[in-house]
Amino acid sequence: MSFINNWLRSDIKMISAYHVPISSDMVKMDAMESPFSLSDELTDQYLTYLVDAQLNRYPSHSLDKLNQTLRLLMNIPKEFGVLLGNGSDELIQLLALACDTGDTVLSVEPSFVMYGMITKFTRLNYQSVLLTDDFEIDDDTMQKAIKTYNPKLIFIAYPNNPTGNMFNREIIEHIISSTKAMVVLDEAYYAYTTDSFLTDIAKYPNLVLLRTVSKIGFAGLRLGLLIATQDTVNQLNKLRLPYNINILTQVSANFLLQEKNTINANVSVILAQRQILFDALVKINVLKVYPSQANFILFKAPNTNILFDFLKENGVLIKNLSVKKRLINCLRVTIGTEEQNQKFINIVEKFYILQRI
Ligand SMILES: *Cc1c(COP(=O)(O)O)cnc(C)c1O
Repeated sequence: MSFINNWLRSDIKMISAYHVPISSDMVKMDAMESPFSLSDELTDQYLTYLVDAQLNRYPSHSLDKLNQTLRLLMNIPKEFGVLLGNGSDELIQLLALACDTGDTVLSVEPSFVMYGMITKFTRLNYQSVLLTDDFEIDDDTMQKAIKTYNPKLIFIAYPNNPTGNMFNREIIEHIISSTKAMVVLDEAYYAYTTDSFLTDIAKYPNLVLLRTVSKIGFAGLRLGLLIATQDTVNQLNKLRLPYNINILTQVSANFLLQEKNTINANVSVILAQRQILFDALVKINVLKVYPSQANFILFKAPNTNILFDFLKENGVLIKNLSVKKRLINCLRVTIGTEEQNQKFINIVEKFYILQRI
């Protein structure tokens, strides 16, 4: 037996690593990235700005400037606190680290896989409530789960990944007001929808929001934020590793995230393309297409695995979710550029025409 096999916690040995598929030379429509890169004009300005980064120094500890940039970008009221993370994944981990031994984390299923994974890494108990057939949270089932498990943390993605829908607002409010748990609403896709719980933080002291710049064009920066009362942020901040936001991210974000008009224009293109892609998928009779409030679309497709492979063979990578509960035969496609979406649709149409012959 190898050294590490003897040495490692047995529960870690059982976990399979977060899988990132090879995507070289493929149209990448699997990970909710923005398809838009920086314009040439912006790139030139960005590079002159980047020269000022002092790589020999630790990054600024205060993060005040970046904080301000994000507050302006996302209209965060000044009375709320903001905690920055190396992606919102790091903030999920930080929240788990704030829990006690034996605490339970509750979420819904299917949802974002990192809630469960990070809970396991940090040796907490994980419980999930199965969503209904139309991907809603059942109020009674959730209330029962809260009573049974007495969770310390509840994660809810709003809109949900990978289903793309928004849960009923009243059901979420019921959860927040009926539990002593910290309720974390993960608004990774806030830009692609109209509702948000941002201002509700003033009403509910146990409400915490997560956001990220990953889904609005800057997945490579690795920058997420936690928004909560200033009190909550001050305490959680003790768990943040010093200098967790590196200087290249800080300098880049301070410049690039000021470009609110460009960011919003790109979001508008994605929203228009989401509608076009949705309509095109609905026209393919054999598919069941789920409405989305995010920058991806979930759909149920016969011969799921063969279609997934056929897309790959034709240079398009999407996400195969067909083994997950409630997601039998489901695939998820991230909205791309008009050209990428058209390529994707053409391949799917061709696949079902070939199938019929
Ligand atoms: C993509 C995603 C994240 C991860 O965000 P990062 O900031 O890139 O770590 C978090 N939550 C949900 C629901 C997501 O879909």
